[in-house]
Amino acid sequence: MMNRFKTILGMPPVRALLFSLLPLGYYVTGTLNYSQAGKAALLGFLMLTPALYWRELFPASRLVRATLVTAIFLLFLNIVFQAVLRHIFGVQQDDVLVVQALINTNVEETRGFIVQYLRPLAAHLGAAVLLFAGYWFFCVRLSPDRQASGRGERRPWLPAAACVSTVILLVSHVNSSLRKANPLFYISYHYQKAAREMEMARELREDLAGGESAAILGKLSLDSASRRRTVVLVIGESDTRRNWSLYGYGRQTNPELAKLRDRLLVFSDVLAADGSTVGSITRMLTAATAEQPELWKTSPTVMAAARRLGYKVFWLANQGAANRGMVPILASQSDVTVFTNRGMDRGESSFDEVLLEPYRQALDDPAERKLIVVQLLGAHPAYNFRYPEKFSVFEKRIDDEVAEGLRKQGRAPWAILFRNAYDCAILYGDHVLARLLQGLMMKEPSSSVWLYVSDHGQDVAHHSDFSGHNQNAREQWEVPLVLWRSPDSPPLADAALTARPYRNDLLDHTLLGLLGIRGDLYDPELDLLSAQFKSERIMPRKMAGAQYD
Ligand SMILES: [Zn+2]
Repeated sequence: MMNRFKTILGMPPVRALLFSLLPLGYYVTGTLNYSQAGKAALLGFLMLTPALYWRELFPASRLVRATLVTAIFLLFLNIVFQAVLRHIFGVQQDDVLVVQALINTNVEETRGFIVQYLRPLAAHLGAAVLLFAGYWFFCVRLSPDRQASGRGERRPWLPAAACVSTVILLVSHVNSSLRKANPLFYISYHYQKAAREMEMARELREDLAGGESAAILGKLSLDSASRRRTVVLVIGESDTRRNWSLYGYGRQTNPELAKLRDRLLVFSDVLAADGSTVGSITRMLTAATAEQPELWKTSPTVMAAARRLGYKVFWLANQGAANRGMVPILASQSDVTVFTNRGMDRGESSFDEVLLEPYRQALDDPAERKLIVVQLLGAHPAYNFRYPEKFSVFEKRIDDEVAEGLRKQGRAPWAILFRNAYDCAILYGDHVLARLLQGLMMKEPSSSVWLYVSDHGQDVAHHSDFSGHNQNAREQWEVPLVLWRSPDSPPLADAALTARPYRNDLLDHTLLGLLGIRGDLYDPELDLLSAQFKSERIMPRKMAGAQYD
């Protein structure tokens, strides 16, 4: 009886099935969803059955052994990768966010990422190593079947079983959904897909003289008031309005903007265009929206429209490199692009104030009409790399109202330190924003406008000890939007303007409005500042499945 049980337990399909219990465990604990767990289990069963059969057949072969180890390792890696994405970031492996991050990320970002997520990463890896070791020890190394075969039992069906299970494995990969779940194919599949999209963007850039977007550009016009104009758009990074004192946060994170408060319009109900940098910037600066994310491929950017109508366009960025990723492709539609971040070290050179000099040069440029886009590094993780010493004022605050509140909610001391560093980054951001704004006020006291938005927010121990991108947190979506207009600007449509609900994926309409551009690309009903603005067109607002109205 016991021997029979051992024999059954030793059969390759049974041992492969035992592997499938692991994704099931991840599912039961809520770390993977049913589709992820189901595919991982199926893939494990299909891959391990033939691998184990071949091992029975050739117990001494190094190649077979290496294949088996590689297969098990890949299966584990696949599960851990998906679990980390889902548990830490609330995303799946095929989300654009992940694919873009894999392609656009540079060394410094990767390092910042590892520092930021050390704890959960270590927990996941630790669990995976234990499970890997356990599975190897009980199901591969101590296989009762191998002991049986050692006793010289004849099993003439073994080669057939190995071959049949191999064929089943291969045939199962005709199914594209299973193929995409296999990490061997997943990486190249998504890489190729993203590379194709980049290629399309590159073609779009080259194609601006002809084709669909040129037809749209040809029909644009400039309103009569826009003979001379300077529009500054500052794009922040990982900046949630929940941590701005201008929006009521308990720490004084906006002392410099507060001094300019009377001259600012501070919008109180604006949501990010997307949860990730690339998605957000693409949606803010093109016709692409949450509902139609692909529109950037066929429609010109705000920069292209501005250039067509005689604006000189500047793109000044303290993140990314000129030749990598999607944002530089968008940026390349400008007349002047400056990338200040050399991106490898924590040096002074990557603090956002490096943008002030190229910004001053852009303001000094004699062009009649200018659009200046400034992309900050803002409060990108890891937060403690984002501000000079002088702005580290919250670093050691462990007993002010905010820290006390977090402690009462049960946050760990290290989570509070993350919050403290984040607030220092916001404070430094306030300083940079004030200097950018004052630069414009001094240089262009008339016919000018300055707009600040963040690409998205951030969850910094707001709901748990976690800090970082979290699509499921309000703080990821609730961003500041601050506007300054020179005193000669036309009167505003509505006194209650700043309470209007908005989504930044429609920001292109607001920008075109500010630039005075009219035509097919511009819809005044979606322009946050227009008298024709219709909030019904924007609502209901649903981000990552949650309602925001
Ligand atoms: Zn971002």
